[in-house]
Amino acid sequence: SIPLGYFGGIGAASKNGVLVKGSNFLDVLASVKHVVMDKTGTMTEGVFAVQEIHFKNHMDQATLMRYVDAIESYSTHPVATAIHQYVGEEGEKVVVSGVEEVAGRGLRGLVANKELLVGNFKLLDKFDISYDVDPNSIVYTTIAVAYDGLFQGYLTIADKIKEDAAQTIKRLHDLGVQTTMLSGDKSTVVKYVADQLEIDNAYGDLLPEDKVAYFKDIKVADGAKVAFVGDGVNDAPVVALSDVGIAMGGLGSDATIETADVVIQDDKPSRIPVAINIGKRTKQIVW
Ligand code: ADP
Ligand code: MG
Repeated sequence: SIPLGYFGGIGAASKNGVLVKGSNFLDVLASVKHVVMDKTGTMTEGVFAVQEIHFKNHMDQATLMRYVDAIESYSTHPVATAIHQYVGEEGEKVVVSGVEEVAGRGLRGLVANKELLVGNFKLLDKFDISYDVDPNSIVYTTIAVAYDGLFQGYLTIADKIKEDAAQTIKRLHDLGVQTTMLSGDKSTVVKYVADQLEIDNAYGDLLPEDKVAYFKDIKVADGAKVAFVGDGVNDAPVVALSDVGIAMGGLGSDATIETADVVIQDDKPSRIPVAINIGKRTKQIVW
């Protein structure tokens, strides 16, 4: 292939939809030996659709669903969009107060002076709500709901694997790059996606601080350059630790796009091996 100078390298990347924020990152890309990635919004579309609702009959189900929608209006997480899509604009507005987002778990707030919790089962654990289902027996991504101290049931949501995700992993492996997926989603879902894509290692049910710990371990074990690719939701701490932080630009949060060294403008993961190749070709002429 034709070698590229630094300016040529940044230009070539840009033509391929990859914004590289400095020539030094082309060098790092050239020597990346391990790509660690998020799942949601990175290897999957990050667009969930509600599949099934398994609410108990402690209260009217439509009312509960409106509570869930109301608290999700405080979140920009892809989960929130799915729920809003499902519920639509009709019906009375519900007032939620004191809403807090619990990172990697979900949301907590008050409706009619009673506690509403919407998130994963770890959120319920944190607020001492007991439940009578085994989270690991549910294969889909699950949103659990508790109100007034009681487990009210759960709903399942599903996302799609991106069209170019499998070829991305194959090309990375062909370049001698190892692949690891770290996700806050359920382990069952994460393992399923990783198997489909033939990703080397995959871990789910991780809180944001767990992702940081796993990432540090990978860096120490590898000693080589490690890249992190994320969609931006809760990813900023890992992006900051990586040798080269790559963000999906379309869906990503502004915070991650700012801390990222490389931005993929059209959200296609197949841009990653392309960028690594451009890094390698740039190095051929400069060195
Ligand atoms: P990922 O690694 O898949 O990007 P996150 O750390 O963003 O995961 O979220 C982890 C999990 O926390 C989600 O799969 C979901 O179960 C729960 N969660 C996060 N935010 C919300 C929310 N706004 N509503 C409901 N659940 C949420
Ligand atoms: Mg995320």
